[in-house]
Amino acid sequence: MSDTDGKKPLGLGGGPRGPGQVKQSFSHGRTKAVAVEVKRKRVVVPQKPGAAGGAGGGSQPLGDPSRRPAGISDAEMERRLAALRAAKAREAEEIAQRAADEKARDEERQRKRDELEAREREERELAEAARRKVEEEERLKAEEDAKVKREAEIARRAANAPAKVAAANAATTVAQPGPPPEERSTRTGPSPRKTDREREREDRERAARAKGGDDSRRAGKLTLNAALEGEGGRTRSLAAMKRKQEKARQKAMGFGQKAEKQVRDVQLPETIVVQELANRMAERAADVVKALMKMGMMVNMNQPIDADTAELVIEEFGHRAVRVSDADVEQVIDTVQDKDEDLRPRPPVVTIMGHVDHGKTSLLDAIRKANVVSGEAGGITQHIGAYQVTTPNGSLVSFLDTPGHAAFTSMRARGAQVTDIVILVVAADDSVMPQTIEAINHAKAAKVPMIVAINKCDKPAADAQKVRTELLQHEVVVEAMSGDVQDVEVSALTGKGLDSLLEAIALQAEILELKSNPNRSAMGAVIEAKLDVGRGPVATVLVQNGTLRKGDIFVVGEKWGKVRALINDKGETITEAGPSVPVEVLGLNGTPEAGDVLNVVETEAQAREIADYREQAAKDKRAAAGAATTLEQLMAKAKADADVSELPVIVKADVQGSAEAIVQALEKVGNDEVRVRVLHYGVGAITDSDVGLAEASGAPVIGFNVRANATARNSAQQKGVEIRYYSIIYDLIDDIKKAASGLLKDEVRENFIGYAKILEVFKITGAGNVAGCLVTEGVARRSAGVRLLRDNVVIHEGTLKTLKRFKDEVKEVQSGQECGMAFERYEDIRAGDVIEIFERETVERNLA
Ligand code: GDP
Repeated sequence: MSDTDGKKPLGLGGGPRGPGQVKQSFSHGRTKAVAVEVKRKRVVVPQKPGAAGGAGGGSQPLGDPSRRPAGISDAEMERRLAALRAAKAREAEEIAQRAADEKARDEERQRKRDELEAREREERELAEAARRKVEEEERLKAEEDAKVKREAEIARRAANAPAKVAAANAATTVAQPGPPPEERSTRTGPSPRKTDREREREDRERAARAKGGDDSRRAGKLTLNAALEGEGGRTRSLAAMKRKQEKARQKAMGFGQKAEKQVRDVQLPETIVVQELANRMAERAADVVKALMKMGMMVNMNQPIDADTAELVIEEFGHRAVRVSDADVEQVIDTVQDKDEDLRPRPPVVTIMGHVDHGKTSLLDAIRKANVVSGEAGGITQHIGAYQVTTPNGSLVSFLDTPGHAAFTSMRARGAQVTDIVILVVAADDSVMPQTIEAINHAKAAKVPMIVAINKCDKPAADAQKVRTELLQHEVVVEAMSGDVQDVEVSALTGKGLDSLLEAIALQAEILELKSNPNRSAMGAVIEAKLDVGRGPVATVLVQNGTLRKGDIFVVGEKWGKVRALINDKGETITEAGPSVPVEVLGLNGTPEAGDVLNVVETEAQAREIADYREQAAKDKRAAAGAATTLEQLMAKAKADADVSELPVIVKADVQGSAEAIVQALEKVGNDEVRVRVLHYGVGAITDSDVGLAEASGAPVIGFNVRANATARNSAQQKGVEIRYYSIIYDLIDDIKKAASGLLKDEVRENFIGYAKILEVFKITGAGNVAGCLVTEGVARRSAGVRLLRDNVVIHEGTLKTLKRFKDEVKEVQSGQECGMAFERYEDIRAGDVIEIFERETVERNLA
């Protein structure tokens, strides 16, 4: 044993020993084989046998079975080896695969390159062919030229022999086609360009290849582009880029939006808040406000505007307005068209119109009385604004007991076309008068047929024929003049012709074929409404369709209710009212207005909902009307304000008739400088909303036979709104006149009381300039106002500081006397100036 061996440190290092045997080496050279107990150990097999083997990290490669580490069983060894082999095989396989892939890719690349080249070649050839063609043409042209030249030369040659040879040579040179076109073209012309292009294409290809997997696609794309369009492909992509940039630029500048503009259908209710309008159009509210300003509407985005204005705005923005007349809540109202078989004849509804004092009221009374006298049940007549009478032939006629055009038109304005027939009363002794013409126009506008009642025929001065002829001028051709308008001579006083009038009405009604369906939910119009002390709000409703019954739930204008009681024109309580029947309705939640339409609905909730909606809509509309002031209107108002004062008032009365009478009377109050303006009038108690309106416009609230409710009273106190109560119209008008007079600017009159001439000006220390004057006219008064006139031009106006007679301060200096005068804070006085002395008088003015 060598020393080296012996020097080896004690170890279990592996010589070829049997299992369980270890060779021990000692420092003094001795070795010894020792048997050791072999403990079976759990061996952790490396996860990647290939890697373990391949790495060769171990001092004993597993590949060598003879150098197997100690403690590893044969089976284990076998397993490891198998794993190793498998790994190696896989590795080899992978390498081979990779090589094959690489080769395939190379081949592919090569193929593509070839393809590309082939295409390029093809393209080149195509270009060559084209060029060849051009060159061929050029060549032919050149030949032609040469030929011409040659001929010219030949002609010359005859004279000059040596020159002939040279010329012939030259001709040959010119005529020579030269090298083949392909050769030439590759050398010259587009060739260098082509090389550039090729280089570019290669660059691109290289870049594409560098991108890896993408290369085939990119290459293919490029090849295609190149092959099909060559340089064109490149140009196009550049153009596309430019287009893209342009698009982005336009978008940034806002042109893009216009191009993409969508036309929208904008749902348009009767009023709409600007912001909401903008939302519905998908436009910016600021733009909408701007558009409105251009139209002369100064509104902000939180203000409502009316539908007409909104429609203009919508059109301005290029959208479509879709008007929605009523909210969905209104749809529960039964608006189904009646079938013909359900319709039954109904009595006509008649309104009497005509000039004042022609006997409208008398005629109505006469008809009524005649009816009562003729043995009608009851007898005690009730004023409910309308009543029914029975004609001699037994048919019914409903009269509206509201003579006057205002009522007729205001009802019509509120959408209630109540009247079927108009009776035009013309006094036979007065003939056609302005209001007669007005009545004719009203009836025509409403397309309501007329019956002319020539009244006061009992009078000796009566001239019925004159009435008929004068009516012709207004296109009313009565039957007596062979027209189609019935005319009846009557006398309200004597009762003459009243039956004929009723017959005429019945005939007209027959012609009109008035029908309605009594078997449906009732619909009617409010003729009159009032707040009754004991019964609460009461409305006289003329049923127009269907039948109104006790217990029905209804909505009427902005109010609703449940029929608590129905009372007819004779004061009788009834349970139902059919078409054309006027009836007092009790059970309302508030006082509606004349002309409001009543509709029966199914549930209280529906009624309340509709009423609430209408109230809100009306509020919005009012607000819109207030806000929707055009610039011109504002200007006009400002101008008007400069010289006309307005006394705004709000009128609430117990009945519609009183309210209208008061409004008419009030509107007559005033002159050129002051005017009474009725902001709002209505029937019923003074409410909080009345007080609100009053506060906003600085108006007093006038209550005629009505009082403010508790909340209104409180808020009026808080807001300092004046509420005045009246029960006599005359007192009311008188008071308003006085109030309006108070508004008048008091007239200031100037009275000239004297003139004085400055004779001399003295400069006095401490007192300034003092004028020595002679009073030429009237008196000079210390307390009066003075003007300094120089050449009849007022140069100063002020007061006197001193007025002296000799040395004494005096109050007055009479004409013809001399005096000393000094102006308060004014020194520029000269001899020859005139002092005008005047006094102002304030005159309180009253309205005429
Ligand atoms: P209204 O203003 O149209 O309602 O007219 P009225 O009914 O108040 O009548 C005006 C005046 O004419 C009254 O003094 C009536 O007495 C009178 N009057 C009305 N009808 C007749 C009539 O047929 N004959 C005569 N002689 N007077 C009449």
